[in-house]
Amino acid sequence: MNPDALAPWASDPRRSRGRRIVEAAAPPRNEHQRDRDRIVHSTAFRRLVYKTQVFLNHEGDLFRTRLTHSLEVAQLGRSAARALQLNEDLVEALALAHDLGHTPFGHAGQDALHACMLEHGGFEHNLQSLRVVDELEARYAAFDGLNLCFETREGILKHCSRRNAERLLAAEPGHPAQRFLTGTQPSLEAQLVNLVDELAYITHDIDDGVRSGLVTMAQLGEVPLVARFRDEVLAEHPGLASKPGRRLLFETLRRVVSALLGDLVDTTAGAIREHCPRDAEAVRAAPTLARLSEPVRAQCAELKQFLFAQLYRHPQVVQSTSLGRTVVAELFSAYSEQPHQMPEDFAFAADRHRAVADYIAGMTDRFALREHHRLTGRRLFD
Ligand code: MG
Repeated sequence: MNPDALAPWASDPRRSRGRRIVEAAAPPRNEHQRDRDRIVHSTAFRRLVYKTQVFLNHEGDLFRTRLTHSLEVAQLGRSAARALQLNEDLVEALALAHDLGHTPFGHAGQDALHACMLEHGGFEHNLQSLRVVDELEARYAAFDGLNLCFETREGILKHCSRRNAERLLAAEPGHPAQRFLTGTQPSLEAQLVNLVDELAYITHDIDDGVRSGLVTMAQLGEVPLVARFRDEVLAEHPGLASKPGRRLLFETLRRVVSALLGDLVDTTAGAIREHCPRDAEAVRAAPTLARLSEPVRAQCAELKQFLFAQLYRHPQVVQSTSLGRTVVAELFSAYSEQPHQMPEDFAFAADRHRAVADYIAGMTDRFALREHHRLTGRRLFD
């Protein structure tokens, strides 16, 4: 994209704060495009295809995985970025990288790994995403990780405790974690991806929930945001109610996503007009500018509550993810006792527990199951 078509408050790759290790420019690509390409070519990115979002990977071929979720976030993010004249390349890079640090088996896997690591610094998927691109990818001759630009690393690090921020800054002055000590914001592109991530999952999880049979259209009628668009669709296409298939659901969700994205663009444009940041640096000192309007934010919160009650805490989802928890915990004990069961670069690491966590976090669901069977002789899933 032409950097001159960007708004003054957009991230301009020509003004990037740069990489930890200086590299020559690579025309015709700019620095943000280059980061996006490095992410797409990474090993961690390819693994996302076999990592659980909500439903375990082997439960069905059509559910979202971390990969399809990341692609949907990129797609929505780019639409919003273009409408707001923000940097689409940076938005795409951040969307594709935002879940790289997720463990197998979704949040249950992360909770299990965090419990195993409590005495050894803990485990947090967001910090892990940064660790993947900063340290763990081993593809370049001259450095560990992908040596991404500051702006990409800043956007990947969405949350960070004070303690971790202090630790990261001690090792690297100017680390993107600094903003968690100064209370400042990341770029508008990072703020946008953060919000769009949420819009993507609350809408696609409804789709997956209905597909799985755990959520019904009748239950969805209790959610005002969904009911409004379902009624609108039925008023225009009364025959859809009795048609087989899920066309009514898809048409409803399509309209929900458009409405949410439209609200995000309008509200954010309003916040930008109000605060009028003179450049991308001024965005960091301003309050959060990527926003939803208050009524839509409240409706999204309602939808999230519905998903927690009806889907994420559904006994069937809880049962399969708790088996995932057991797999992670037992893998952790097995590798901690016998590090030689891991590949050499993990087996001989100085910090054994961190190496075990890194190795497990990188696994796909199905590789974790195979390893669990190899090391324990038990199969927890049929
Ligand atoms: Mg996500």
